[in-house]
Amino acid sequence: MLPVLIPLRDGHGIARPVLEGILSQNVPLEVVPVSRVGQAGNRRAGEGLCRNILLAVLSKLSSEVAVMMDRDVVLTDSAAFEAACLRLHADELLKVVHLRYKAEAGPEHYDLGAVVFKREVATQVMFDVTSRVCHCGKLTEHLNSLGWRQDYLSDAVQGQEYTYTRG
Ligand SMILES: [Zn+2]
Repeated sequence: MLPVLIPLRDGHGIARPVLEGILSQNVPLEVVPVSRVGQAGNRRAGEGLCRNILLAVLSKLSSEVAVMMDRDVVLTDSAAFEAACLRLHADELLKVVHLRYKAEAGPEHYDLGAVVFKREVATQVMFDVTSRVCHCGKLTEHLNSLGWRQDYLSDAVQGQEYTYTRG
């Protein structure tokens, strides 16, 4: 079972299109809602705190691979998780596969809205809770320092792997 970790604030649920996108995936999975706790000084700091909590949860899972997904992400490719897992299994040094949102450019910036991780990443990476800029830089720095790699799932399906909802 592929765990899909989704941070939720108190009182927030998972919107129907988001859930449908997850349930459309052609792999066995379980949704793991993670309570979004803690206070941070600004939006970016809050994101960093939240992602560190997700990493802590991820580090305790028995699954070798897990998904971290924001609560407003609608998956539009039903084979995205399967394809990401296959990529990770096939490549020892590839540790993180990002699903592509619109035409996000890489590798200088990775959108972190839907990410498939190997569990070992969780014990080696910490996001910066004081950061006021995008957190992908810290992830890239940690991965590079370990000789690990990350990639987008596909360049061929730009914009098809997920979209944001406005909810
Ligand atoms: Zn970035």
